[in-house]
Amino acid sequence: MKKHNYSAGPCILPQEVFEKSAQAVLDFNNSGLSILEISHRSKDFVAVMEEARALVLELLGLEGKGYQALFLHGGASLEFLMVPYNLMRENGKAAYLDTGTWANSAIKEAKHFGETLLVGSSKEENYSYIPKDYLIPSDVDYFHCTSNNTIFGTQMKTFPQTNVPLVCDMSSDIFSRKLDFSQFDLIYAGAQKNMGPAGVTLVVVKEEILGKTGRTIPNMLNYQQHIAKESMYNTPPVFPTYVSLLTLQWLKNKGGIAAIEKVNETKAKLLYTEIDRNPLFKGAAAKEDRSFMNATFLLENPAHQETFDALWKAAGISGLNGHRSVGGYRASMYNALPLESVQVLVDVMQDLESKV
Ligand code: PMP
Repeated sequence: MKKHNYSAGPCILPQEVFEKSAQAVLDFNNSGLSILEISHRSKDFVAVMEEARALVLELLGLEGKGYQALFLHGGASLEFLMVPYNLMRENGKAAYLDTGTWANSAIKEAKHFGETLLVGSSKEENYSYIPKDYLIPSDVDYFHCTSNNTIFGTQMKTFPQTNVPLVCDMSSDIFSRKLDFSQFDLIYAGAQKNMGPAGVTLVVVKEEILGKTGRTIPNMLNYQQHIAKESMYNTPPVFPTYVSLLTLQWLKNKGGIAAIEKVNETKAKLLYTEIDRNPLFKGAAAKEDRSFMNATFLLENPAHQETFDALWKAAGISGLNGHRSVGGYRASMYNALPLESVQVLVDVMQDLESKV
């Protein structure tokens, strides 16, 4: 039986994507060849890469606005250093918002390249909220933030107005909600939440911000190289890119970001309403900053843990344990998680209430 998969990532993908990718492993486009054995320069795969890059810009509403989409290797973690390599001038500086573990990893890598300025941090409250009212100096090379903090379950609801390039790690909420994506100059995301399987990273960059640092950048780490080679500077992650394309097509067929946002809102509302109503549970993040993708919550009484764990496991739920730095539970409700799975979890929470 298919589990209700709450994994934080890699995570659930649409069932039809699993089926179509399984078929492509056996016979891709009726070619008599598996997608795993064809050249990345073959006509069929070049078409996949072109469609995937175009579909990203279409879904984000960024077509014809000077952006390029790239499918790269190395995970979001490689972007932590490619961003400063490509955007921070020699002896330059960049501003960062410290909203959790991943933001911190980005800051650590940027320190290899120049000065990093922390404009805000919620570290003293174990990252349970998003800092607000911070100032971004106008002389920094860029401002970096993390739109959704996968571990702590917080999400930025608004983004600052600034005259410096706005860079955002959207690994765990890209394609989940409507935003004016043209306010960002560079967006990156590991695929393995809302876009596809692990092994490919999406970078969406406004071309005009590149080439201004005075640095000599090794080719593999140079966005301009990847753009010039149409995201095929070296062998791209062929299969993860194909599975990402299938996921993007699924999203487009569902009505795009506007349609999935409504479903995501319904799912998040259903779960948070129960967390707030049920006296046995409490939310871990500040209410106004709650993530619609990763809901973090705790039992009021840890003695109920054994019973609760047994109940959700028996209901076919998987991947609900919280990250060790928060404890408790984390329900990751990415695009492909159906509303019915959230109802199953809510039923289990009510079941616990009736039993203890
Ligand atoms: N940023 C965020 C917000 C994440 O959630 C993650 C991973 N879960 C990363 C960065 C790191 O991504 P990767 O493992 O692809 O390097």
